[in-house]
Amino acid sequence: MSITRKCPVCGKPRHAEHTPFCSPRCRDRDLLQWLEEGYRLPGPPATPPPGEDEG
Ligand SMILES: [Zn+2]
Repeated sequence: MSITRKCPVCGKPRHAEHTPFCSPRCRDRDLLQWLEEGYRLPGPPATPPPGEDEG
């Protein structure tokens, strides 16, 4: 029983030259997704802690 490694982006058989992806395109795509997710994870929220907004 052998496990066929596939491109994590599109699911096609990956290429040895672009492992673990099937093409540089998918590699860039994965990288972009990764970066976008990084940008979507900002630091702590800008809202002040509760209790300081009274008065
Ligand atoms: Zn691919």
